[in-house]
Amino acid sequence: HTAGEASLNSTWYTPSLKRGMEEKHSLYFRLMEALDKGQIGVVYQPKFDRLGNVVGAEALARWNDPEYPCSPGTFIPIAEELGLIHKLGLRVLGTVCRDLVQNDILAAANIPISVNCSVRQLDHPDFLRNIHTVLGNYGIAPQRIVFEVTESVFADSGRRLSVLQSLQDNGHLLAIDDFGTGYSSFRYFRDLAPDILKIDQSFVRYIGLDPKCEIIVSSIIDLAHHLGAVVVAEGVETDLHGTWLRDRGCDVFQGYLFSRPLHLRDFLQVFTLGSASRK
Ligand code: C2E
Ligand code: MG
Ligand code: MG
Ligand code: MG
Repeated sequence: HTAGEASLNSTWYTPSLKRGMEEKHSLYFRLMEALDKGQIGVVYQPKFDRLGNVVGAEALARWNDPEYPCSPGTFIPIAEELGLIHKLGLRVLGTVCRDLVQNDILAAANIPISVNCSVRQLDHPDFLRNIHTVLGNYGIAPQRIVFEVTESVFADSGRRLSVLQSLQDNGHLLAIDDFGTGYSSFRYFRDLAPDILKIDQSFVRYIGLDPKCEIIVSSIIDLAHHLGAVVVAEGVETDLHGTWLRDRGCDVFQGYLFSRPLHLRDFLQVFTLGSASRK
């Protein structure tokens, strides 16, 4: 039986669907437990400016379960769907704040750290208050934290826009993640001035291969600059990507060419070892 056949003649309850639901159910409990036990950690992917200085880093959630390796691409959508993303987001933020406080190198580097933020989190009534509490507990200045949100925040709700404005009013930086892949209505730039636009890696990947993608990337760089935003390229993997983006005026670079996401210990080395170890 092909997948197509199965979906054509299935009632809503099939063995495979049941298996899917059971898997999700067990994933829910495992994720809950992982959150409670502090098994959701973060890795840091450094971001570099045009001169090769580390100017920031993105905190990416990791589920440290040796038995069932599970990537954010799998567990983040499930956390969103099952109502655990708010808790997970606060856990990640708390870990970042703790690392900022506990490590002199990081404290002295004085670079902002980005955390990803799902649309669902913005809808939680305590979102802003909880962030304020976590930062307050660690004594972290709001300027140290960047919130990365995707364009999906602009899909329908004006309330989300005002939550984002509040984040900026409170002193945080705001980045639009995966820019160009979602609901890119330029209208929202009238109401919101993001500090950072991140060019999605699905465009960066085709630099040198697809002239259309090159035009899109150039246009995003120009748009960001005209809007007074810093532009970050994601998924910079090759020398060609790096050189091309540099020549087009891209400000900040993030990708395997420079560094993979790193455990804290290795991330701290980026500051002490200098440029020779950056690749
Ligand atoms: P994102 O925010 O767009 O993060 C960038 C993703 O690209 C990361 O995947 C990163 O490891 C990967 N990446 C970085 N450089 C390169 C490169 O040069 N080439 C390629 N092919 N990939 C690269 P990761 O860590 O698997 O995270 C996937 C997505 O999961 C993130 O995409 C973000 O949307 C979400 N996510 C991760 N952590 C969190 C979190 O704490 N909260 C929320 N809400 N979402 C998160
Ligand atoms: Mg991101
Ligand atoms: Mg992204
Ligand atoms: Mg992405």
